[in-house]
Amino acid sequence: MAKTVQGVRGMNDVLPAEAHRWAFFEETVRRWAHAYGYQSIRMPILERTELFVRSIGEVTDIVEKEMYTFKDELNGEQLTLRPEGTASCVRAVIEHNLLYPGPQRLWYQGPMFRHERPQKGRYRQFHQIGVEALGFAGPDIDAEHIVMCARLWRDLGLKYIRLEINSLGSADARARYRTKLVSYLEQHAGELDADAQRRMHSNPLRVLDSKNPQMQALVAAAPKLADDLDEVSAQAFTALQASLRAADIEFSVNPRLVRGLDYYNGTVFEWITDRLGAQGTVCAGGRYDGLMEQIGGKPAPACGFAMGVERLLALIAETGVAIAEQIPDVYVLRQGEAALAWGEQVAEQLRDSGLSAVLHCGGGSFKSQMKRADDSGARYAVILGEDEVAATMLSVKALRIQARQQEQRRVTLPEACEIIKSR
Ligand code: ATP
Ligand code: MG
Repeated sequence: MAKTVQGVRGMNDVLPAEAHRWAFFEETVRRWAHAYGYQSIRMPILERTELFVRSIGEVTDIVEKEMYTFKDELNGEQLTLRPEGTASCVRAVIEHNLLYPGPQRLWYQGPMFRHERPQKGRYRQFHQIGVEALGFAGPDIDAEHIVMCARLWRDLGLKYIRLEINSLGSADARARYRTKLVSYLEQHAGELDADAQRRMHSNPLRVLDSKNPQMQALVAAAPKLADDLDEVSAQAFTALQASLRAADIEFSVNPRLVRGLDYYNGTVFEWITDRLGAQGTVCAGGRYDGLMEQIGGKPAPACGFAMGVERLLALIAETGVAIAEQIPDVYVLRQGEAALAWGEQVAEQLRDSGLSAVLHCGGGSFKSQMKRADDSGARYAVILGEDEVAATMLSVKALRIQARQQEQRRVTLPEACEIIKSR
């Protein structure tokens, strides 16, 4: 036998046994986004590399070492598998002039790609739900985003998620803070790891986002951005906190929360759980007022957030919310030439009436067909043999209940539909 071809490391299959959880999640998200008046947008998975370099920032983990970038050999273009959705969404909004009639509330979902070390909660293809509000200055919209998240956690039956917020201030405030931070880092140059040494001058704020345990004490003692916040950002941040209190949403201010992407300013936030080990951030976002202009659009304020679907599904599994499996209503067994042909019509008619019907294919004895029916999880079996064909009647048998209740009934097709729907 030929050697099997394996999937790519860090890129997972979602198998049928798990797929119903994804379906439940996606359905819940669709209803939730609609409840807040967000419209769906779908962007391509491939973009020009330049888009991410200009938006996410040259000196970030993502752009420096996590992007799947390659040259399109047919025309020489540098392309990248999207590592996140905001840049693509903003590009699409600019390209199609979507803000012309006014601000837009948008959401999307789909796979993202980052060449990271695969581990629990960290994959090379993973999925995000992204929400973006473009043309809104805040802080009311920032509050809306956080309130939205809190509702989704409730809709999903999720617990054990806490909220951290911070403000990164205006570009000017960050520049002032940057100077202070660089001199602090220079004083402690000897204690910095290689990443931090390299970034100390190119992107010092990113040093605060270090995941290295050895760096945490140094990061904790660094000067705080909150002390340099500009007036506008400080007021917006205070107003946001008032809205959150009014909405009964608990939060803590984490002055070291900086986010790993360069385009953020003003309010940023993360939803974190302690139930998933090191990969505990399930949702993250904030304002990115400069991004539209940065990638060539008319300046417009904006904010948004993205959730990691795999991490949220893991948390749903962890906290034990029961999600119903998707099982067919009825399994149609058939034997004999006439019943074979009739079975196809019966199954279609069952589907016409709104039922999910699996038609047995591949022949075999009724006994072996009944085993398939049981394995399918269907609640009912419809049995078509020579007798049924002769009488133009179907035999209906309830599956998955105690044996004594399982006697078979001979009924017409409309009666069968009624029986199956009644349970
Ligand atoms: P982390 O700090 O965990 O690397 P990040 O700051 O790089 O996350 P964002 O770019 O803000 O993450 O993406 C938003 C969310 O997408 C994250 O909070 C996380 O839930 C999820 N996510 C990011 N990278 C991965 C990945 N490689 N595998 C699975 N989920 C991911
Ligand atoms: Mg990351």
